[in-house]
Amino acid sequence: MRDPRYDILFEPVKIGPVTTPNRFYQVPHCTGMGYRFPRSEARFRGIKAEGGWGVVSTQESEIHPSTDITPANEARIWDERDIPALRLMTDAVHEHGSLAAIQLVHNGLHTSNRYTRCSPLSPSAQVIIPEDPIQARGMSKNDIAEFRRWHKAAAIRGRDAGFDIIYVYAGHDMTLLQHFLLKRYNHRSDEYGGSLENRLRLFREVITDTKEAVGDTCAVAVRLAVDELLGDEGLQHDGEARDIIEALAELPDLWDVNLSDWSNDSQSSRFSQEGYQERYTGFVKSVTTKPVVGVGRYTSPDTMVRVVSSGVLDLIGAARPSIADPFLPNKIESGRIEDIRECIGCNICVSGDNTNVPMRCTQNPAVGEEWRRDWHPEVIPSLPGDQTCLIVGGGPAGLEAARALSQRGVHVTLSEAGHDWGGRVRLESKLPGLAAWSRVRDWRVWQLQQKANVEMYLQSKLSADNILDFGIAHVAIATGATWRRDGVGRVHRLPLAYLDQTRVLTPDDLMLHGQEACSGGGTVVIFDDDRFYMASVLAELVAGFGIKTVFVTPSPVVAPWSDNTLEQERIQRRLIDLDVEIIPLHSLHGMSDDSLTLECGYSGRTREIACGKLVSVTSRSPDESLWNELNASKERWADAGISSITRIGDCLTPGLIANSVYSGHAYARAFGSTGEPLLYREDMAALATSDINV
Ligand code: ADP
Ligand code: SF4
Repeated sequence: MRDPRYDILFEPVKIGPVTTPNRFYQVPHCTGMGYRFPRSEARFRGIKAEGGWGVVSTQESEIHPSTDITPANEARIWDERDIPALRLMTDAVHEHGSLAAIQLVHNGLHTSNRYTRCSPLSPSAQVIIPEDPIQARGMSKNDIAEFRRWHKAAAIRGRDAGFDIIYVYAGHDMTLLQHFLLKRYNHRSDEYGGSLENRLRLFREVITDTKEAVGDTCAVAVRLAVDELLGDEGLQHDGEARDIIEALAELPDLWDVNLSDWSNDSQSSRFSQEGYQERYTGFVKSVTTKPVVGVGRYTSPDTMVRVVSSGVLDLIGAARPSIADPFLPNKIESGRIEDIRECIGCNICVSGDNTNVPMRCTQNPAVGEEWRRDWHPEVIPSLPGDQTCLIVGGGPAGLEAARALSQRGVHVTLSEAGHDWGGRVRLESKLPGLAAWSRVRDWRVWQLQQKANVEMYLQSKLSADNILDFGIAHVAIATGATWRRDGVGRVHRLPLAYLDQTRVLTPDDLMLHGQEACSGGGTVVIFDDDRFYMASVLAELVAGFGIKTVFVTPSPVVAPWSDNTLEQERIQRRLIDLDVEIIPLHSLHGMSDDSLTLECGYSGRTREIACGKLVSVTSRSPDESLWNELNASKERWADAGISSITRIGDCLTPGLIANSVYSGHAYARAFGSTGEPLLYREDMAALATSDINV
């Protein structure tokens, strides 16, 4: 039963001509599915409605071929042929009584139109924002009239596709309407440029057009970035953004307010806490009577109640919390607070969109698989009979496999060598900024502790003989991986014999022994050939000990892959703030008593730097010893009663924590089945049916 404290979250809210069933509002967010994977998209969104989100939105939806951000997979509403695909989504959302919203977009000078080859559009002629070598043309009055016509036509198509809420979008440094508002992009001297009243003219016109076109049946929402965190160079919440909202206060039916650009809006937990946008968006309700939605990685129902009751927001906006747990509202509704699978703020979901593939989620392995594998995030078919499974290793792979198998009714024995659960997550969540990652372990351990069909053993390192003696029919080996200490990674493919192993540390050494591992004095050099978060977090750790820290990488920047999680700039800035010396574009070349020789990746020139300890962050070796031992005694399996032994997680493929969780989950889903089921493929489905092609 619902705790009455949370009643306020379940109040309906009127938004213009429509009413939400509650205050849980999935704001527009991309998925990497979009127009190319419409069935995946529809099922993904429909499941959120099933989980209780009162409003479920699309991602940005391109209104015309002149806003084409190929190869990204966003939504498209270029013409009426796009309606059937979008209808899949609105039907899926309406099936559960929720409202469907579409975020119309023209990307202005944020796109080069690679696929359509249209001329990019901008308030004034200038180079576009992405690095493609093309400029945008300054829009003539005729272009402006055309744009208004396109937007209006798209709003009507949105209504015809079944949407209840139509967005006018000015945010993320990605939209033409925002570009018109901003002085740095709008250099016009006519009535659309110059004063703020002129710069917001088009925004006002488009909101009015949209209301005229569809406002009798659909709500018109405005999404506005109220701060760009650029100081005087950008829009500020206590400056022009406030003036804009005051000027347009009662025009739209809903204000959806956030930060720009995307890296400010979707800050990872390494750089922000729950509710981090409130200090910027909190003023909006004081200047409008219309409902206001905002985000801030809200996962705690108590925080949500505080936000609504104290008048910060009317609706709890969420992208990531709704991805990690599509059933968050229903869990609050049914008093199952402990069951909420809280987002850890790692932004692996964001990396899907940034790499143009359907996204995945560290906490929710079903994301992206709802349609193509028919995985429901809350339901897994039970297995008949008294099936048993032994899982060796209690890291993310082992924990998720155990949890999902126990949900299927399998009797699970989970054995972990260490004194606590979590494997790599136990260690990594103690590093600077990564505390929220412990939720991967905590949620799963709590779930397992509620089950009668699970036995869990800590400090139980199993040998091959132990496993054969137990004779449990199915065994999953989830023994993980350890960081290499021989320099092997992307740039050095063979072990570096010259490394003085008495002075080499791995991330495991540092995570296990902290400052003690750095004893002996001298500069600590961190060599990063892994290129995601680990080396930079260790640099923060070591610099925090007050030790001179040098960061060497073959890449041009620190942690280049973290661009995909929107963290790269913040990471590099933090290291600079901590006085970490950064040496890009260099690999290792030699090591002597107190120095390291580096080699320039372009010229081959070498240089020496002082080095006490070298932290080698290059790649990991799967811990396969148990797997190998068991395979060496395969002839004993049958007598021992063992039918299958399977490797999962880092022990099979060292990768992200998300990969390990997924691997454990996939093992549990496949348990008991024979053969590999064929994936549903949207490309094949499109050929086989005509339901989305007019
Ligand atoms: P993954 O990401 O694949 O889950 P981790 O490295 O995070 O991998 O976790 C692997 C876990 O397996 C570690 O906690 C480790 O202590 C445990 N482990 C390794 N070998 C054994 C073993 N022989 N018996 C029990 N547990 C083991
Ligand atoms: Fe949250 Fe990470 Fe999942 Fe994204 S991938 S929803 S940030 S847990």
